[in-house]
Amino acid sequence: MIDHDALSPTQEGGDAASAGGVDADRGSPRSISSADRVREAILSGEFAPGERINEVHLSRALGVSRTPTRAALHALAAEGLVDYARNRGFSVREFPPQAVLDAYEIRASLEGLACRFAAERGLSDAQREAMHAALRDGDAVLDHEELTEADLVAYRAVNVAFHDAILAAAQNRMLTEAVRMTLNMPGSTHRHIVSFTHRDVRRRHDDHHRLLALIDGGHGWRAELLMREHVLGLALMGRGHPESAQFRTIVR
Ligand SMILES: [Zn+2]
Repeated sequence: MIDHDALSPTQEGGDAASAGGVDADRGSPRSISSADRVREAILSGEFAPGERINEVHLSRALGVSRTPTRAALHALAAEGLVDYARNRGFSVREFPPQAVLDAYEIRASLEGLACRFAAERGLSDAQREAMHAALRDGDAVLDHEELTEADLVAYRAVNVAFHDAILAAAQNRMLTEAVRMTLNMPGSTHRHIVSFTHRDVRRRHDDHHRLLALIDGGHGWRAELLMREHVLGLALMGRGHPESAQFRTIVR
């Protein structure tokens, strides 16, 4: 059983799924931040699939009253992350293993396409620099002999920055929104980077170096294929990490 009171206002929410102003028109600022925090908790596995959400406990954990808590839960129901039943209240939606695997396939295609668009459209100086910065930051983290939990959390932010920079360079809002939809599912997000070993992360970071070289060199199709492989590799990598319950269900 997970301590939902651990849900804190400082919880990192840097993932593509919750970054940016995508929810900016969904309600009051308070309900947005509550929804972001509950989304993060669901996506990072703090709530089990199918678990009923106790609104009283949740509003206490969030430090807000019942009304914004309910507004947040309704927003997440609209996104498909929680279910609402009149007599039962809110519960965390369960995604069948096939749906999670499909989400990886869809994201692999979409992020691959983003690489090709970026390569075909060319990088601005600012976009190139953002990607180089993510590569440098990742190199610095991976320089450590052993990766601590903090290193992995830091790497997660680097990873999100790199993938977001590619989406920005693709210059297509629909594509960005579609990628966010695929991330809005427990088990299909960058969050699982924390389960990986040094060698896994190193290999994935090397992919990033190759991706930038291909995109910047204008090799759109090769960049697209490499990104597809890069994203699909995540589903396969779950195999060696039984601590991730979602992976346990999807890759046995
Ligand atoms: Zn990556």
